Amino acid sequence: MRDFDWHLPTKIVFGKGRIGELGERIDPGHRRVFIVTDKTVAERTEALGRTMKAIGDRETAVFDGVEENPAFETIEAGSRQARDFGADLVVGLGGGSPMDAAKGIALKARNRGPLGRYLRGEPLADDPLPIVCIPTTAGTGSEVTPYAVFTDLAGRTKAGYSHPKLFPEIALIDPELTYSMPASVAINTGLDVLTHAAEAYLSTMSFPLNDTLALHALETARARLPGAARKNPDDMDHLAFAAMQAGVAIANASTILPHIAGYPLTLFHGVPHGRASAIMLAAVLAYLRERSSAPEKVAILDKIFGRQGGLEAYLGGLGVSTKLSDYGVREEEIPLYVEKTMVKGDVKITPAEITAETLEAIYRAAL
Ligand code: NAP
Ligand code: FE
Repeated sequence: MRDFDWHLPTKIVFGKGRIGELGERIDPGHRRVFIVTDKTVAERTEALGRTMKAIGDRETAVFDGVEENPAFETIEAGSRQARDFGADLVVGLGGGSPMDAAKGIALKARNRGPLGRYLRGEPLADDPLPIVCIPTTAGTGSEVTPYAVFTDLAGRTKAGYSHPKLFPEIALIDPELTYSMPASVAINTGLDVLTHAAEAYLSTMSFPLNDTLALHALETARARLPGAARKNPDDMDHLAFAAMQAGVAIANASTILPHIAGYPLTLFHGVPHGRASAIMLAAVLAYLRERSSAPEKVAILDKIFGRQGGLEAYLGGLGVSTKLSDYGVREEEIPLYVEKTMVKGDVKITPAEITAETLEAIYRAAL
């Protein structure tokens, strides 16, 4: 049996209505709370109001300027405000974008110089501020991972970052906060759960304890996503759970090729993150069926979607095309996508030999 390490320092508080417990869950020493969110969550849902009420008599400041796939500039602006405010805790409230932004802001509030420097590997001079994550999508699982993904607009790339000090202190998961998602957001973010689970399971970093979580999350996401897309509360509750579970799975085994190969679809064609990952999961699985070093795992994934006629048919049932041309991707863009993807480390933990030529073939076959 393989050696493995298990590390999850985040306290998980899960349950409907439990946002009301936030104030008593936060360390009493944290008195100045900097809340990071986006405009929709702040203005069109009850999430921010409920969060502020639960925080009680602590001092708060709200930064609601986070866009989808947050840019470096957003992190710099937010961290300046957090520093000026004298924050001693950063709360990320929203989907993966505000939660990742909260992590970046917590890091930059304590470490001078441009964010890009740390993303390129410079060690942190100081620990990031403590972080609490409260997801409103189901979702990225960022509430239980040490990861954050930022968009480098100048370099036209999405840059992932991982640091053990970015694990949130608390993940407060109240499924009621996801009920306000429109169906399109529920589908796009639910597909992220599905792909996290599948990729953590396939990853060459996977190990049996983690596989139990990944497979359970995958089965839950498969079964519950259609109901969540119809806004069925029971299905949405289960998907909020599976999002966290799949988050734990990627915290231990990472995502692999489909995620990073999906980044150019988001960058150049605005395809939402979870949808882009699922499209590329279908494309990468087609390749792994022929050439994987873990064929038994690929067969298990195929069996899970067998009842729906396969992953493509399942996605089709959710209104999700797996044809890249349906999203505006043109053949001449593929070499650039290959170049952007091959430099990412996750290529190496995909259970097959991936070269520029094979990746190009994967994209071409998905056109
Ligand atoms: P998101 O970009 O956070 O949110 C998408 C949109 O959903 C928001 O802009 C917002 O509306 C809307 N929204 C969110 N919650 C809502 C609610 N409860 N009710 C109504 N609307 C709501 O999407 P996401 O998929 O959760 O996060 C994607 C980001 O996470 C990407 O940058 C991705 O790379 C990253 N990610 C991180 C990890 C990790 O481990 N750290 C893992 C996977 C992905 P509007 O569109 O109207 O503004
Ligand atoms: Fe993801």
